[in-house]
Amino acid sequence: MVFPESYTYHNNNCRRHGKISWFGVLAHGIGLRVTFMHHNAHHGIVRNGKTHLRDLSLDQLSEFVSGFGEPPYRYRQLVSWLYEKLAGDFQEMTDLPLRLREQLAHHARVTSLRATTVQVSQIDGTRKFLFDLGDGKSIESVLMRHGQRVTLCISSQVGCPMDCLFCQTSKGVFQRNLKCGEILDQICHLKRVCRDEDEAKKSHPVNIVFMGMGEPLLNYRSLVHAIRTLNAPEGFDMGSKRITVSTSGLPRRMCNLADAGLRCSLALSLNATTDSDRRRLMPAVSKYPIKETIDAARYFAETSGRRVTLEYVLLRGENTSDEDARRLGKISRQGPFKLNLIPYNPGPEGEYETLDEDELQRFIQLLLPYAPTLTVRRSKGPDIFAACGQLWNQSLGYKKGPAEGT
Ligand code: SF4
Repeated sequence: MVFPESYTYHNNNCRRHGKISWFGVLAHGIGLRVTFMHHNAHHGIVRNGKTHLRDLSLDQLSEFVSGFGEPPYRYRQLVSWLYEKLAGDFQEMTDLPLRLREQLAHHARVTSLRATTVQVSQIDGTRKFLFDLGDGKSIESVLMRHGQRVTLCISSQVGCPMDCLFCQTSKGVFQRNLKCGEILDQICHLKRVCRDEDEAKKSHPVNIVFMGMGEPLLNYRSLVHAIRTLNAPEGFDMGSKRITVSTSGLPRRMCNLADAGLRCSLALSLNATTDSDRRRLMPAVSKYPIKETIDAARYFAETSGRRVTLEYVLLRGENTSDEDARRLGKISRQGPFKLNLIPYNPGPEGEYETLDEDELQRFIQLLLPYAPTLTVRRSKGPDIFAACGQLWNQSLGYKKGPAEGT
């Protein structure tokens, strides 16, 4: 389901039914189903009869634990197992009494993902993980290392409804939004992989980019919920420099995100300098003129105090003329923005071409008089289709069937 753009997120409270009662969860265990089913069917927190703990906000998790008659310190132990020690199973939680672990295992689960395939780039060691969601659907996430830094590219939807022409994900059939727990599970799994590899070494800083499958702002509620847990001191305690939400440009949602008071950065995937080119390359956002989208980006930057990144995928002959360079430079001066050029990464069907090095340098030289800050993103993992705009998996199928010969 795609939430309408006007949807307003309410943290712990159900608009129709008031606050969630975890009494309902325990009542479920002794056969009192009515309240429980009503509330949680609405919130989507309980799946397959069990509460996924990473679907819960930290307040909800505290309530959940106290519902078992446990003292407050048990909540602190559990939250530490979930987000600091990155537990994948209740059996690992050895400082919880066996009785409580058994009760929790009966009513709840720790993870909803299973990594079925890991591909490793022979070029730069980037890894692409295929996660089975347990309902016949799969997503991909990417783990990249840049020296001491680690970047996790996280998916927010199964597929993507946005139809950007240069993106492989858009060729598959959009299936559904991810739950908050499914978003956090990707992060926990990949952080755990890093921790196990870096054993005995100092843990490295981790950056999280919502640039995997999906348009994150179409899954606004789960995204905000997940970022609150990433920000929380007892969660991941991550700040705005380490979390980036990349959007194709939904102005109202960008403003909502600015007003939500989260610690995160925003990247706007611009990719065109005229409304007609943007309509052609990104038809799903064609109803929003570039001016309206840039106004929303400026609002985010001014509200949050953080510069917004304008991303620009270079598609030779489509958006790389001299005039494009000059217009892009001028747009980048319309607010506290920084510009990130991304050489196009072809999918298996490779419909577009990117610029060669000389053409790229020429484009940059034309931009430099206008663009205050400019970077070029060197893609990671292109040989395993792990780079920007290349994620896709069999569970998505193809909207129109693969092109002949692929
Ligand atoms: S570029 Fe992003 S928003 Fe556009 S289709 Fe791909 S995943 Fe969706």
